[in-house]
Amino acid sequence: MDRKRVYLSSPTMHGEEQKFIQEAFDTNWVAPLGPNVDAFEREMEAYTACGHAAALSAGTAAIHLALKLIGVQEGDIVFAPALTFSATCNPIAYEKAIPVFIDAEPDTWNMSPAALERAFEKYPNPRAVICVHLYGTPAKLDEIMAICKKHNVPLIEDAAESLSSTYKGKQTGTFGHFGIYSFNGNKIITTSGGGMLVGQDEAEIKKATFLATQARDPARHYQHSQIGYNYRMSNITAGIGRGQLLHLEEHKAKKQEIYRTYQEAFADIPQITMNPMNADGDANNWLSCMTIAPGCSVTPNQLMDALAELNIETRPIWKPMQLQPVFADCDFFPHEPDKMYEGGATSVSEDVFNRGVCLPSDIKNTDEDMKLIIETIRKMF
Ligand SMILES: *Cc1c(COP(=O)(O)O)cnc(C)c1O
Repeated sequence: MDRKRVYLSSPTMHGEEQKFIQEAFDTNWVAPLGPNVDAFEREMEAYTACGHAAALSAGTAAIHLALKLIGVQEGDIVFAPALTFSATCNPIAYEKAIPVFIDAEPDTWNMSPAALERAFEKYPNPRAVICVHLYGTPAKLDEIMAICKKHNVPLIEDAAESLSSTYKGKQTGTFGHFGIYSFNGNKIITTSGGGMLVGQDEAEIKKATFLATQARDPARHYQHSQIGYNYRMSNITAGIGRGQLLHLEEHKAKKQEIYRTYQEAFADIPQITMNPMNADGDANNWLSCMTIAPGCSVTPNQLMDALAELNIETRPIWKPMQLQPVFADCDFFPHEPDKMYEGGATSVSEDVFNRGVCLPSDIKNTDEDMKLIIETIRKMF
């Protein structure tokens, strides 16, 4: 293929990352922990106003530790979003707890408060609720938090995709009892791989760093009173994060511009709808997505094939958890029971999955790249 590849969302480095890495090399603070880790945590605390932060090896590790700190145990029920990446839900299984999946609602594609209420009627005592801000769009946090509060259940916010998105002026990830961020390779900023657990309670976040460093008791010899994990972020990795954080707002502005460009370009095509925003929030538009109207003859696969021929990367919408073979036995609460959607889908999450496509949202896309993507799609309708 001669044409240069156009990516969905690839790392964008700026050079400042090198400075922090060089410092770590110069002081031989290559591993483990060290000043970059501390500074990255303090800088993330300042940026998000999250209270306290623990830098970890992955967003998945952060979700796992959040569940541990809440005390989720074997057999406990945890309510989790249906429409998300499996990393949101895998840590529930690590603890042998039981995920119960809550459908998305059409307004934001995030956890449906109506379905969540119904789940509480059947399971009044879940140990935790995990919500997600999919593709950067904030969930209906007021409604979700009110339900959690009413039932006295802690909320974990999976803000892996939504770092820099705000809801009513406040950063996503800072509403729940715990929030988590990811710095995986394709996220809005990246450390090559990494994550963060955040929360208001300093003692809890300290406990997280303790568990993340093999739960080593404060003794001269190696003593352990409980099972720990090797989940800490390295000092080199944190250096990349510090350099990236300087450019987070700039990345967000570019992602938002990409979304607006698609939205304007497809405004006159009634069969195309862009992924929803939340009027109470300001989304980072991590990925721009579109859905094809019911009854339209164009399929997401045809659209992805047409772009793939031009070496342009796209991706299907996350396949919902209730449709995953590994979670086939789990209970699921649809947004509107008994409602049927296009092609026999029985939930909002399945319907979005069937009709949706993630569009190239790389902030290094040129105007020519965007024109080619848009023209290729427009010609199909
Ligand atoms: C990327 C992602 C995660 C996992 O983050 P890692 O850092 O890759 O472990 C969790 N949840 C969602 C919704 C994600 O997109």
